[in-house]
Amino acid sequence: MTRIAFIGLGNMGGGMAANQAKAGHAVAAFDLSAAALEKARAAGCTPAASVAEAVADAEAVITMLPAGPHVRQVYGEQVLAAAPRSALLIDCSTIDVDSARAVAAQAKAAGFRFADAPVSGGTAAADAGALAFMVGCDEADFGAVEAVIQPMARVVFRAGDHGAGQAAKICNNMLLGISMIGTCEAIALAEKLGLDPARFFEISAQSSGQCWSLTSYCPWPGPVPAAPSNRGYEGGFATAMMLKDLKLAQEAAAKAGAATPMGAQAEGLYALFERMGGGGRDFSAILQMLRGNPQG
Ligand code: NAD
Repeated sequence: MTRIAFIGLGNMGGGMAANQAKAGHAVAAFDLSAAALEKARAAGCTPAASVAEAVADAEAVITMLPAGPHVRQVYGEQVLAAAPRSALLIDCSTIDVDSARAVAAQAKAAGFRFADAPVSGGTAAADAGALAFMVGCDEADFGAVEAVIQPMARVVFRAGDHGAGQAAKICNNMLLGISMIGTCEAIALAEKLGLDPARFFEISAQSSGQCWSLTSYCPWPGPVPAAPSNRGYEGGFATAMMLKDLKLAQEAAAKAGAATPMGAQAEGLYALFERMGGGGRDFSAILQMLRGNPQG
C-alpha cells in the first residue's frame, strides 16, 4: 500500500484516483469542486480540505489539472511547500513543455523527484485503468514512477528527460488531429462522388489510406460501433481539448523553429469548428462541418 495524494478529480482524474483506491492504495484526494470530492469519497478515496492536507504525508503525489498555469500554481505555491521531500511527484496533466520543465527544475531544486506523465486514452480508458502514459523523468526514477502509475495504465513509456512526456503527447495529438481531418475530408468527398462512405471505409481500411482515425474511431456512423459518431458525437475527446493540444503543438513548434504547416491548418480548422459551436462535441464531429452541416 502506498500513500498517494491525488489533486484534480475531474473527468480524467476522478477515474484515475478511483483506480488507485481500487488497487489498495490510501488515496488522499483534493479538488476545488465539492461534487468531485464527493465522487472520490464514494470511490474509496479520502477527501482532503486542501492541497497541503492531501500531500502532508504522501509517498507519491499525482496531479491531473487543466493546463500549465494550474500546474505551475499548484506545485509552486502548494505541493513543494507542504509535501515531504521523499514524495515522488507525477503530473499527468497535458501542459506546455516549458511549464513541465520549469516545474521539474523547481521541484528538483527543492529536493524532489518529478515526472511529467501525460496520458492518451480519454475518459473511458481513465475509468478502466487502461491509459497510455508518456513519461519524462530522470532515468533513475522511471522504475518508481512506473510502479505508481501501473494501476491506471495499459502501457507506460519513458519518452526521455523532463518535458519529453509532454513533447510526445503534443506530437501524437497533432498527428491525430491532422489524420482525423484527412479522414473526414476523404469520407466527405467519397459521399459527394456518390460512393457509399461505409463502402469507402471497407476499401480504405484495407488500402494505403488506413489509419487509426478511420479504422478505430471512424467519424462516419456505422463501421466502428464503439466510435462517438454512433452516439451523436457525445463523450469521447472534445474538440476544445483537441484544440488545446494543437495550440500547444503550434506554440512549441514556433519556439523550436519547426515547420508544422499541417498542424497549423488543423488548429485553424478546429478553431473554426469550435466557433461554430462544436467545442463540446467529440473531435470526429468535424466531419459534419466539412459536409456543410456543423450541427449534424
Ligand atoms: P477537468 O476539467 O474535467 O478536470 C480538471 C479538474 O482540476 C477539475 O475538477 C478542477 O476542479 C480541478 N482543479 C483545477 N484547479 C485546481 C486546483 N488549483 N486545485 C485542485 N483542483 C483543481 O479536465 P479533464 O478532462 O479531467 O482533463 C485533465 C487533464 O487531462 C487536462 O490537461 C487534459 O488536457 C488532459 N487529458 C484529457 C483527456 C480527456 O479525454 N478528457 C484525455 C487525455 C488528457
